[in-house]
Amino acid sequence: MKIYLKTIIAFVLTLLSIAPVAAQDILARQAPIDARMRAVDSVSLKRLLQKESFSNPSAMLYGNWGEHYARNKATVPDSFSIVLSNFCMPTTSHIVTSDYGMRRGKLHKGVDIKVYTGDTIRAAFSGKVRIVRYDEKGFGNYIVIRHHNGLETIYGHMQKSLVDQDDEVRAGTPIGLGGSTGRTADAHLHFETRFCGIAIDPTHLFDFRNQDVTGNTYVFHNDKKSSTALAQARKAKEEQASNTTASSKKQTHYHKVTKGETLSAIAHKHHTTVDNLCRLNRISKTSTLRLGQILKYN
Ligand SMILES: [Zn+2]
Repeated sequence: MKIYLKTIIAFVLTLLSIAPVAAQDILARQAPIDARMRAVDSVSLKRLLQKESFSNPSAMLYGNWGEHYARNKATVPDSFSIVLSNFCMPTTSHIVTSDYGMRRGKLHKGVDIKVYTGDTIRAAFSGKVRIVRYDEKGFGNYIVIRHHNGLETIYGHMQKSLVDQDDEVRAGTPIGLGGSTGRTADAHLHFETRFCGIAIDPTHLFDFRNQDVTGNTYVFHNDKKSSTALAQARKAKEEQASNTTASSKKQTHYHKVTKGETLSAIAHKHHTTVDNLCRLNRISKTSTLRLGQILKYN
């Protein structure tokens, strides 16, 4: 009898220890929200909701929710800071088998990561599944997710999709299984990161070798004149280098554009000049400011 009881206890303990990682994540995320909700009164609740919409800019950036393959007519802002915190690596694989860039005379708009058939592929950030499709001559079973941080991610060549169009996902939600469907011989994940339809080298955002993001944010710059992959890579490097030097001296501050504000009003408010604002945000004096646009002011 005693031995029987011991077996049951051991079994229960084992079950507890293998509680799904995803469930633990949800609990961990839920806890601070509950604490916050309890602590707020109606005024600060309003502020909290404003803050949430501030950290969910995708609705502002994209007018449509079409089925077009990540090529929508969104108005691309001159620059935009994409928040990378609360991420999940799409795969635990460290091996990049093909880089972003020119390949056989065509731009390979993503990276290929070695995965095995059946490996779990996860959503990189929270968001909503925009496209679930099968393209025999292209990416096979592929998914496009629009994230709250403004980014869209594409996952190709999967054996199987585990989500449906319009499904809400969290960072880490299993969305498919690795495979070799479509135009490929070997099992791998074709992974793309796009902002308003423009492809960004995913390794500027994700460090697959170290299974990490490259920073808290990634600053996207829309430079139509030199939109080659190389120019973007150089810019990103310069930006990161200048960020590192600047942050060691002083913190960068941002201003969120409210209704009716002009560049000169914002400059006046933060004791700076219009020229300085234009330089920091790579915009011109005549640029139209969008409601909710984020501007650096120092
Ligand atoms: Zn690829």
